[in-house]
This record gives sequence, C-alpha cells and structure tokens, in this order.
Amino acid sequence: MPRWGMVIDLDRCTGCQACTMACRNENNVPVAGDRNSWKGRAIFWNKVVAYRPEDSEREASGTEGAVLKDEGRKFPPRLRFLPLPCMHCDNSPCTKLCPVRATSRSPDGLVMQVPSRCIGCRLCQAACPYSRRYFNWQEVTFTEDHKQGLNPDVSLRTLGVIEKCTFCVHRLQKAREIARAEERPLREEDYQPACVQACPAKARTFGDLSNPEHAAAQLARSSRAFQLLAELGTAPKVFYLKEGGWNGGLPPETQEGEKHG
Ligand code: SF4
Ligand code: SF4
Repeated sequence: MPRWGMVIDLDRCTGCQACTMACRNENNVPVAGDRNSWKGRAIFWNKVVAYRPEDSEREASGTEGAVLKDEGRKFPPRLRFLPLPCMHCDNSPCTKLCPVRATSRSPDGLVMQVPSRCIGCRLCQAACPYSRRYFNWQEVTFTEDHKQGLNPDVSLRTLGVIEKCTFCVHRLQKAREIARAEERPLREEDYQPACVQACPAKARTFGDLSNPEHAAAQLARSSRAFQLLAELGTAPKVFYLKEGGWNGGLPPETQEGEKHG
C-alpha cells in the first residue's frame, strides 16, 4: 500500500505563493473577505509563512531588545519561508477526536475530511498542533466570475464545517481510474497535487514514501530532512529539507555586494 507524502526544500522556496493560489483554485477554497480576514478567519489549505531568523535568534538567546549582529541590515531583508500544507500525520490527533468520523485516515495514509458529515464541533481543529484545519464562519459564496472557474471534482463546503488540505485526493482517484482503464500500474508522475505542479522553484516533491524509487522517498531520507514538531509523535508525512546552501541566508554574491554597499 502506498504512503503518500511530500518533501519541501526550504532552500528553494522563494515565498512566491504560487502554491497557495494553485491550491485555492484547485480546491474551490472560499474567499473570506476583508472583515473575516481581519478576524483571522481566512482559509488557507496551503499557507506560506514568512519569518525572520533574527526574531527566533533573539528569542532563543533570551536577549530581547539586544542588538544582534545582523540588526543593522536593511536590504535585502533576511526573510525565510515555511510552506504549510496538512502534514497528513500517520499518528493524527485530529482524527482521533472526531465524534462523527467526519475525518479519518485512508488506507494509504491520507487524512481525509467529509464535509457533509462534519457537525462543526471543531475538536479536530483544537487537536491539530500545526493549525492546518479551518472552520467556515460564514456562508460560502462565489462571484459569478469565480463560479466559472470552480473545479467540478471538488465538493463545495458550507457554513459551520471544517475544511483542510487533502493532498488533492480527487487527482489520485482520477489517476487510479485512468491507470486501471489503461491496464497499467499507477506511475509516480500520475498523481501530483496542484501545489507541487505549480511551484516554479520546484521546492516540492511528492510521491510514495514507501517506494524507494520515488524521489520523495529518497529525499525524505536525506540528512537535511526533518519533520515539524516531530517530538510530538504525530509522524507527519510532510518532510522539510533544511536550509544550508546559502551562507547566512543570502547568496554569496549578494553578501559581497552588501559589504561594499
Ligand atoms: Fe515556495 Fe514553491 Fe510555494 Fe513559491 S510555489 S511559495 S517557491 S513552495
Ligand atoms: Fe490532522 Fe493537523 Fe496532522 Fe493534518 S497536520 S493530519 S489536520 S493533526
């Protein structure tokens, strides 16, 4: 049985958000609008978080207010990016709490959500340590223009239910049917989520983690690979590759230019 997973190379991610937009369009993710966004109710199945390493350095050193060695640097800003889809945890706390089994793990390890069964109790949202579940606080509406672009393969959600990244499982279903009709096994390239396809920097690799021939399985064993909050024992199937190719967060030529600037 396959174990679908993803590897994201943090050295390659430029924070362009192409993955976020591709995910939004592919999965009919509703637009929250200004008012709800200000209340923190915007829905992002895939979110790219920007952070400054200086902030975590300051926090770790306990020197709040102290001037760190890079503090004076104004340009270019030392921003890093952390793309966050659902981790599709092998030991998923979210699925254990659902009282109506609206969320569960499929045999190939995908953490699925059935919106029509969800009663909106939000226990799964509270249980997720990665904040990868979103609640629909308003009736979902789309403009006439937007309706033209809705994906008929993905059902629309409604007020009062939870939604989350599914690793574009509808693509898996379609790929399986095509493979069956052509009487051949499913190939690595047959099933790729929209975010992986859209990433211009090729920061994302997707595949069967239990198949040593798949690139994702090989990258997940790299010495640069790590999982977010692995100490919690959730066993995420999203792996990250540590940044390391760059010196101090900037390409060498940029650092040189900055020294003389
Ligand atoms: Fe990063 Fe790729 Fe997403 Fe752009 S599309 S934000 S490079 S993961
Ligand atoms: Fe569940 Fe959160 Fe893990 Fe996704 S990341 S499987 S929502 S616990």
